[in-house]
Amino acid sequence: MTIENHEDHDAGTAPDPSGSGVIDTFGRALKDLRISVTDRCNFRCRYCMPKEIFNRDYEFLERELLLSFEEIHRLVGVFAGFGVNKIRITGGEPLLRRGVEDLISMVKSVEGINDVTLTTNASLLQRKASSLAAAGLDRITVSLDSLDNEVFMAMNDVGFSVDDVLAGIEAAGNAGLAPIKINMVVQKGVNDHTVVDMARHFKGTSHIVRYIEYMDVGTTNHWCMDDVVPGKDIVAMISEAFPLEPADPNYTGEVASRWKYADGTGEIGVITSVTQPFCATCTRARISAEGSMYTCLFASNGTDLRSMLRAGATDDELAEAVRSVWIRRDDRYSQLRSSRTAGLRKVEMSYIGG
Ligand code: SAM
Ligand code: SF4
Ligand code: SF4
Repeated sequence: MTIENHEDHDAGTAPDPSGSGVIDTFGRALKDLRISVTDRCNFRCRYCMPKEIFNRDYEFLERELLLSFEEIHRLVGVFAGFGVNKIRITGGEPLLRRGVEDLISMVKSVEGINDVTLTTNASLLQRKASSLAAAGLDRITVSLDSLDNEVFMAMNDVGFSVDDVLAGIEAAGNAGLAPIKINMVVQKGVNDHTVVDMARHFKGTSHIVRYIEYMDVGTTNHWCMDDVVPGKDIVAMISEAFPLEPADPNYTGEVASRWKYADGTGEIGVITSVTQPFCATCTRARISAEGSMYTCLFASNGTDLRSMLRAGATDDELAEAVRSVWIRRDDRYSQLRSSRTAGLRKVEMSYIGG
């Protein structure tokens, strides 16, 4: 069942192609879960948490509003019951959450969960790489928007240096977390002139750079289409320096399209959420730091699972809440991105988790 013919498809009644427990109105199974463990961050990336808004007056979530590790652990068990086996810990900056390693071991211990990953800005990675690996983290993604220090410092807007991120990547590699994915959000006129340098730096290593089209997440970054560098242009730029060949996806629904260096020295990924949306295969749910479930990165509203947890809901009741949200899911924001979606109130990336 593809997304185009969903009108004739009843919510949740088609056979589940993947064997997991629940499918949405477009026949997409619930397979992976991203959990934001904090809405706070020590960076102020201009495209995510611009300083003008995320300043001293900004009201971040109070500690008691955040899900506790025990609450997250319980929810992971409920999601695993539907066949979810991949968990990504994110934020805000997840390494700012004290004891996040304990959460990783707790999530790892849930039956059915076989892949626990984390996305980080690497500011604390040198310090934490070995404890994260020891806790059972399977893989890590590090965000790094340019190797040009001036460009990078202007983008993170707190003066964090490229060398510190590279040291974090090295520490993660030494701790056994390689291959590492390196996320670079490409913005026209900001860092697009450094795309090829990034490729050059990691070519021939086991690490994989993933170029991400700048997206219209949230409302604070004043996104406009002119700021987007289409994935095909990114591939063309790199291919001119280092010829690339398309590679098959590692699995159905992989968000990054893969390109291999023709000389066999590795690969890159390109995430074209804007110019070639992949809503048709989107099997991802998200839980915000305060325990709301979202079924799309661009959603306006979530479902409050924290209140249920704190009111003493049983696992069956929680599972029913998740099921009833998922079977009604009809999100395909990126496919509809146009005047129809302009002006909608959307949650911020730092809140929902990237
Ligand atoms: N703080 C961590 C980090 O930066 O890796 C984790 C959270 S961050 C929200 C997750 C990812 O989302 C990062 O790779 C970031 O670059 C990306 N991101 C944030 N805002 C974005 C936007 N508007 N468009 C595309 N990617 C974005
Ligand atoms: Fe922080 Fe990550 Fe957002 Fe940058 S992209 S401000 S590091 S949450
Ligand atoms: Fe999934 Fe929403 Fe992104 Fe489409 S826009 S791929 S439904 S998160």
